[in-house]
Amino acid sequence: MMSRWRPSDPYSPRPIILANAGSASQQLCDERRQYYLDLNKHLADNTHPKPTRPDAYHGIYAHNEVKQALGLMFGSKCAYCEADVTMVSWQHVEHFRPVARYPALAYARNNLLLACGRCNGKPNKSDNFPIAPSGKTREENRPEPCSQLGIGELPMLIDPSSEDPEPHFNFRDGRIIARTTKGKHSRDVYGLNRDQLVRGRKQWLAAIRPIAEEYRIGQMENDPVRQIRHRAVLFESVQSSAPFAGMVRSELKSMGIDWRTL
Ligand SMILES: [Zn+2]
Repeated sequence: MMSRWRPSDPYSPRPIILANAGSASQQLCDERRQYYLDLNKHLADNTHPKPTRPDAYHGIYAHNEVKQALGLMFGSKCAYCEADVTMVSWQHVEHFRPVARYPALAYARNNLLLACGRCNGKPNKSDNFPIAPSGKTREENRPEPCSQLGIGELPMLIDPSSEDPEPHFNFRDGRIIARTTKGKHSRDVYGLNRDQLVRGRKQWLAAIRPIAEEYRIGQMENDPVRQIRHRAVLFESVQSSAPFAGMVRSELKSMGIDWRTL
């Protein structure tokens, strides 16, 4: 999970394309509403043709201006798994609340993230969005998909754009150990313990641990030269732009190093 959180107004400047997205959002809501009405007719009587689910307008929410603005917030990483995506792939513009269930939020700026195709796709996040049983539920074929969005809901997933995952996760040998129910849902829905990620985290740890150990010895022996020699690498590794920064922060903490003071 991304380990530093966007400021209260993350878009600076706000993408023009999103500022103009209101009418597109309304049109999508209208199409979606008609889709659910037609779907219900089909389910009640299969002589009615099954409708095709309308898609959000990819050219709007995945416009280059939007991607650039999101890039300022998330860098080249995936907001969920913290892997560096751009070395080998494109980042996907991801909807925290899935468009399939929340069409009115297709262009809402605080609903957009950058994610890798693995976290964003099946069998991981995709259209999954568990909410607490005490919250209101939304059903796929409910014919008012745009009403009272999110009111009373308690998502069971960590929103990487506004929540700190630190209280929810521990790390052990590259694997995430959930500390809370929300952490468990997030780990499992985003697929954060998949083999490739665990392997990548382990490799990253193997590079960082010896440096952290040298720094810690420098602290214990009150040796400023030894500390300075290793501080720069550690400082870079805990920045929000660094891959797996959340895990590195957790590791440093377990070694008694306060990453905030680097
Ligand atoms: Zn990812």
